[in-house]
Amino acid sequence: MKTIFEKNGVSGIELTDEKEDLSFINSKFLRQSNVGLPEVSELEAMRHYKELSDKNFCIEKGFYPLGSCTMKYNPKVNEFLANLEGFASLHPHLSDEDAQGALELMYKLQEALKKITGMDAVTLQPAAGAHGELTGMMIIKKYFEVKGESRKKVIIPDSAHGTNPASAHLCGFDIVPVKSNEKGQVDINALKGLLDSDVAAIMMTNPNTLGIFEENVLEISKLMHENGSLLYYDGANFNAIMGYTNPKLMGFDVVHINLHKTFSTPHGGGGPGAGPVCVVESLKEFLPAPVVKFDGKNYYRSYDLKHSIGSVKGFFGNFGILIRAYAYILMMGKNLKEASENAVLNANYLKEKLKKAYLLPFDEPCMHEFVLSGEKQHSENGVSTLNIAKALMDENTHPPTVYFPLIVHEAIMIEPTESETKDVLDDFVNVMLKIAQEAKINPEKIISAPHTTPVKRLDETMAARHPDLSYKN
Ligand SMILES: *Cc1c(COP(=O)(O)O)cnc(C)c1O
Repeated sequence: MKTIFEKNGVSGIELTDEKEDLSFINSKFLRQSNVGLPEVSELEAMRHYKELSDKNFCIEKGFYPLGSCTMKYNPKVNEFLANLEGFASLHPHLSDEDAQGALELMYKLQEALKKITGMDAVTLQPAAGAHGELTGMMIIKKYFEVKGESRKKVIIPDSAHGTNPASAHLCGFDIVPVKSNEKGQVDINALKGLLDSDVAAIMMTNPNTLGIFEENVLEISKLMHENGSLLYYDGANFNAIMGYTNPKLMGFDVVHINLHKTFSTPHGGGGPGAGPVCVVESLKEFLPAPVVKFDGKNYYRSYDLKHSIGSVKGFFGNFGILIRAYAYILMMGKNLKEASENAVLNANYLKEKLKKAYLLPFDEPCMHEFVLSGEKQHSENGVSTLNIAKALMDENTHPPTVYFPLIVHEAIMIEPTESETKDVLDDFVNVMLKIAQEAKINPEKIISAPHTTPVKRLDETMAARHPDLSYKN
């Protein structure tokens, strides 16, 4: 440096003393040896992760109509609150006395969920919807054990989410499927034919996975209760009914709520989530311990549950998700009803616009989602639902849920949520109509999609079983 100054003939400027030291930290605190970090700079590392994140898709990047998953906008204030020092740094081994704020939040969330679901008691422990199902089925199993009955069968509609039979089976129940009728609802007569003294429960989703409200739900709950059986409500579709009705009014006994879906937490990347389970009065004593209680002065953990199935998750479940859900519920207040209203309106709007170009197997007013079929495109042009899903990725749109529910061939399950504007919905309609048109005149283009994404068609089984996580340019 000194040479450069001198060579360039910068004369007249006095250079500072070579020994001048600009470190302002007391030398006794300075590191004496190399810290031994990898040989990339912070900037290089940042660019690496930014580039990876740019390759990913999220709700902030574009429309995400992934049916059954409720990919609504997650307000950023949730993140701020979940990161408050008093919550984020709380040690799980603190005594109740030293964790009053966190316990109060959990208690008040339990109370809110009781009100929203109509139920009488809540556990916040389960880490996701499927974990809630498992917890609920364990409760049902123990309920019959205590009653001295050994009922083995659980009835599940053929439209159900795969986790329903998986959870019941994991608890040792035998799964009995019940078929759907021509309206896409549980076939009551088929159900009657399945009832006997060995049936422990039915697991239902309402609105069901076709986005259709089960109009016979009251008759079903009457039939089940008369048979001495219980009703489990898969609450994944709760976003359709908030404040309008609830599972208690429909006659259910056990309910799980997917907080990460209905009550706004970023999800889809593998967690964490939260799947609180709410039960009726008669099942209160079976909940996992501890539950949070309030004695009028203090909040405390209660292990005092006569028939508790035990603990299903370490400490308090995924506490950070509970904070987000509670923040969302407080912020929304009476507008939770409006969220359901707009979710249903948006779904019906899309359904009416899209049924012109795609088959709509169950043409009825829908709730918060609906299921199209790509069968027309498949049989006429050789373009499958998978091809359509991939083509959407070229249009900055996350594909809808595909090939689920299983009872619809080439299923395309669309859930817009309440978060989207009419402009976004109209853009999506245009893109879907464009793809349907393209499938007719240039099917090759759709069949070979996506064309613009960082990776094209992945071997999904291989990607799940043998993930290659190394970074290549
Ligand atoms: C998402 C979903 C589940 C499972 O919930 P997770 O939180 O993903 O475990 C169960 N049933 C239905 C209908 C769902 O959409």
